[in-house]
Amino acid sequence: MTTDTAPTATDHAAALSTPKGMRLFIGLFGRRNAGKSSLLNALTGQSLAIVSPRAGTTTDPVEKAMELLPLGPVVLIDTAGVDDEGELGSLRVDKTRRAFERTDLAIVVAEAGQWSRFEEELVDEFTHRRTPLVVAFNKVDLTPIPHAAPDAALLAQLRERGAAVVSLSARTGQGLDDLRSALIERAPESHFGDRPLLADLVGPGRLALLVTPIDKQAPRGRLILPQVQTIRDLVDGQAHALVTTTDALPGALEHLKAPPAIVVTDSQAFREVEALIPKDQPLTSFSILFARLKGDLATQAQGARAVDRLRPGDRVLVAEACAHHPSQEDIGRVKIPRWLNQKVGGELNVTTVQGRDFPEDVTPYSLVIHCGACTFNRRAMISRIEQCRRQNVPISNYGLVIAALNGILDRALKPFL
Ligand code: SF4
Repeated sequence: MTTDTAPTATDHAAALSTPKGMRLFIGLFGRRNAGKSSLLNALTGQSLAIVSPRAGTTTDPVEKAMELLPLGPVVLIDTAGVDDEGELGSLRVDKTRRAFERTDLAIVVAEAGQWSRFEEELVDEFTHRRTPLVVAFNKVDLTPIPHAAPDAALLAQLRERGAAVVSLSARTGQGLDDLRSALIERAPESHFGDRPLLADLVGPGRLALLVTPIDKQAPRGRLILPQVQTIRDLVDGQAHALVTTTDALPGALEHLKAPPAIVVTDSQAFREVEALIPKDQPLTSFSILFARLKGDLATQAQGARAVDRLRPGDRVLVAEACAHHPSQEDIGRVKIPRWLNQKVGGELNVTTVQGRDFPEDVTPYSLVIHCGACTFNRRAMISRIEQCRRQNVPISNYGLVIAALNGILDRALKPFL
């Protein structure tokens, strides 16, 4: 978890809005000119996506954060056609495919009577990923009856595979309510809200002590997003938060009448904080909290144990969910590689990727180390974990690896047992 460039809570509008990583991501997919952009505009009631009768107008995926009642905060993703052609076209298809991994709920937009292998492949893809799916047959206003609806065999086949099916016209608005109902019905129940962050480990009326070191990496005058989300979670759970720094930690502990329910530190300060608190004091880090929230804590904790098997020359992939300019003491580029090299007694071959860049093949790597992914939705992080599992490569996260390097992994995991 970086402290230098992370998303912050300073911007007023941003502070009032739901962070992207907490929203339900709804992706619109289909062939060029199926009407995905028109449907996005119809759903949002705004002209966000460029709509053109010319096929292939959407290039990079367009994302729009909005409230879709009664679903709540969502991000709608409009994508380029999966049937795009040529060199540029295949780049666009590649970007569309990358949007699969962050889609919590998929809409395949098709035209009645025009079902093809492209739609079939999309349905296969989302069925395979177990992504809830709605198939929207668009342009019913243009299609003369009796061809306005898909044939019965196709309908039966789609429903058998768990898809909801609606017929609509993005142009006239006909059927849009049916689509909204289908989205509500198919939305995954636990897309985010049900997963705990910290309050469940603390309990109402009890205190969590949060350690946010002040160093060159810390942004001036603000807290970073994972810290803000953690405080919010404590407040929502009727628990208390006391925020301090590594230097002020002993004084903060002295002033407390009772020990805090838990100490949560920036992972980079694990070693100092561990030395400053009583041995029986529950301790973990923000990054580890986010492994539980966004990822799969058991798998990523297991992945951290792979640091003991690393040898000089091994390849390690470090992945950060937010793009930023690295600083001199960047956690992903500088500190973790340095600590790992010290641990293995030689040079590892470390590659860093940011944002949506993540290799489709991770088999050359002996370990993948991910940040807390506070800006990702859970599905995007789980997709990466699943990919690593399929390709038999251990995956962990910053906090877990740093805890392992400091010999305190079991202690940092104890609060979750
Ligand atoms: S996305 Fe990752 S690197 Fe960026 S602030 Fe969140 S946890 Fe830190």
